[in-house]
Amino acid sequence: MLYIFLGKPGAGKGTLAEYARIQYSNKKKDLVYISTGDLFRAICKLETKLAKEVKQTLEEGLLVSDDLTNRVFLEKFLQYDNNSNFILDGYPRTVTQAKFLQETIIKHNFGTCKVLYLDCAQKVLIERICGRRICPKCSRVYNVVSKKPKVENHCDFDNELLIQRMDDSKRSVVTRIKVYEKDTEPLINFYSELGILEKINAESTPVPEIFKKVFV
Ligand code: AMP
Repeated sequence: MLYIFLGKPGAGKGTLAEYARIQYSNKKKDLVYISTGDLFRAICKLETKLAKEVKQTLEEGLLVSDDLTNRVFLEKFLQYDNNSNFILDGYPRTVTQAKFLQETIIKHNFGTCKVLYLDCAQKVLIERICGRRICPKCSRVYNVVSKKPKVENHCDFDNELLIQRMDDSKRSVVTRIKVYEKDTEPLINFYSELGILEKINAESTPVPEIFKKVFV
């Protein structure tokens, strides 16, 4: 099964993914997590011309080109067995990418898809994103208001100093939300028409409840 997470930045895709990974691992079931955002952040650390361009795109809150995104995604995706369970977080983000993904699934015989649309009001999104802190080592996500680490500013798991993502400034978040509305919201129709979209109120539904409702 492929779980595709749709939702504006801050809707809780990463938090739900982390919860799902823990639940699967407790039951000794595999769950592959692919975040194109994480893949691009890894590229940004390289000393190449491409890395510089990708870094600038991320900092501005814009989307990386479909061509590069599809290539980066495909390279990662095809490393796994087509019987695995997957969470795709942040991919696809455009109709072009969604069509590419559908073709890839058919071509390489991957399983069925379920698309989860996490809906959340803009005011809540901005508050969540501006308070978000991440561990640069293990990528675990915290929040200065709603999910504080045990020791202030340090990761509970490896004690690393937490950082703010370079694109989590208010200015960049507003751009990312606008880009989402223009480029990614058409996917809601795309997947509705395929009959595989489930809309969830991500503001009022607790993560364990979303998990129970959606995951098999
Ligand atoms: P995320 O971690 O999903 O919020 O992604 C961070 C940034 O990476 C986005 O704001 C984009 O600049 C870039 N990015 C991630 N996924 C995609 C995608 N599917 N298509 C284009 N750009 C992407």
